[in-house]
Amino acid sequence: ELVRFGPRMKENAEVHGSKPCVIDEIGTMSWAEFGDLVARIAGRLRSMGIGPGSMVASLAENSANNVAMYAGVLYAGACMVPLPFSATEAALVKERADCGATLLFTTHQFRATAEKLGASEIVDLAEIEAWVGDAPAIDPVPVTDDDLFDMIYSSGTTGTPKGIVHDHRFRSRQFSRTSAYGLEADGVLMLSTPLYSNTTLVAAIAGLVRGATLVTMARFDTVRFLELSERHRATHAMLVPVQYMRLMDEPRFDEFDLSSYQCKMSTSAPLPGVLIAQCMERWPGNILEFYGMTEGGPATVLDCAAHPDKWDTVGQPQPGADMRVIDEEGNELPYGAYGEVVGRSGSMMPGYHNNPEKTREATWVSPEGDHFVRTGDMGRFDEDGFLHLLDRKKDMIISGGFNIYAADLEAVLRKHPDVADVAVIAIPSREWGETPLGLVVPRRPEADAEAIRDWTNDQLGKTQRLSRIEFRQDLPRSEIGKILKRELRAPYWEGQP
Ligand code: ATP
Ligand code: MG
Repeated sequence: ELVRFGPRMKENAEVHGSKPCVIDEIGTMSWAEFGDLVARIAGRLRSMGIGPGSMVASLAENSANNVAMYAGVLYAGACMVPLPFSATEAALVKERADCGATLLFTTHQFRATAEKLGASEIVDLAEIEAWVGDAPAIDPVPVTDDDLFDMIYSSGTTGTPKGIVHDHRFRSRQFSRTSAYGLEADGVLMLSTPLYSNTTLVAAIAGLVRGATLVTMARFDTVRFLELSERHRATHAMLVPVQYMRLMDEPRFDEFDLSSYQCKMSTSAPLPGVLIAQCMERWPGNILEFYGMTEGGPATVLDCAAHPDKWDTVGQPQPGADMRVIDEEGNELPYGAYGEVVGRSGSMMPGYHNNPEKTREATWVSPEGDHFVRTGDMGRFDEDGFLHLLDRKKDMIISGGFNIYAADLEAVLRKHPDVADVAVIAIPSREWGETPLGLVVPRRPEADAEAIRDWTNDQLGKTQRLSRIEFRQDLPRSEIGKILKRELRAPYWEGQP
């Protein structure tokens, strides 16, 4: 039986009454308070004619009011469009126009930007009670499978952001599956990545659907995260790899009581095996690493406790996901070969918003005529059915005719004691066309770039070797923690064909 968001929220508000629903920097909103606010926000939206088929946008950091507004829009049957506040103003202007939302929720922090996006009504989330006024609490508006649930602009890690549409069919199937987290009504989920990212949104909605408690942070800070985890006896956390990295590097990590943790989730970027090893040793509870895309389709999960020998993979396809590997020409490759990963599942986007051409490009049609999502990720299934991800196709290094996967080189580099963080990119080479360069954040000032390069190259095949290593203080990352390789590569390729 598929979960419908609206009716489930109403039921949870009744069942869980005084239990905390969302805890933020300001305070605690109980399930009863949350349910009431959500139903009144929906009432206000309905009085404005907003319902199924309407788009409502937001530009705001995480807070209880943000979660309530989100739920209120869904309750009214409308489609939520959380704009990525880390994007440039020019991109946000385009996205607001592209989605067509005229109502925009924001906060003090983003007010100035919000005013430039062309919305006709802007509401400050801090004043949402006043805005709702005496609008009546309503029942959730019925929706169909095809009604839109939300639209998320892709991270734009590899290019121009695309509006990825999710209908109720997509989301309902996804939430019916999240029982895999083991998150139930007694669960407390830490959320510290922005709600506009698919990962965060899925975790937040899953928590609400399960009747759990969400602890939202507007900004991630290692000590604050640990304090809140201890204080609220967190059982679950949705984190991205760079956050695990920062937490493991936090000198005060071991001072906190994290014994309430049952399970942490990771997704969005590779979670290196060495990092999993540290977390499994120092942090109670399991880790589930997910691989997927905002577009849906391919989906794997790695249960770290169950498969300690598979920490360098992203796990196995989730039930219902059909995943395959194809070559450059779009031919399906035999099981076990390297190629581009494609996938198909019950949760798949109907398409990119206003962009049939990109939708076509992102689709692979199997010989049987089924539509798969093309991931743009290179990978290979091993003999046990675990997926080894290598690189995004666009990040692959082609040197002297050989394909070099940055992931292989990064995995070796990460094992060096002087390496805190690393990204391997392609730089131009007169001899080879491209050659791999290692950008390393060193752990100590005395670290020696040449020594690290030689140590690494000793463990690599002849055709994989790093030409050199450069030290960096930091690596550029997106708000959701993805290393921006495009940005790293750009200066080396200036003036190149
Ligand atoms: P854009 O499509 O605009 O370039 P994006 O692909 O980064 O942005 P998302 O849909 O958020 O946008 O991310 C999906 C991608 O993230 C996957 O295609 C994959 O490259 C990467 N990814 C997700 N989970 C994992 C994981 N567990 N390990 C490695 N990479 C991952
Ligand atoms: Mg993508």
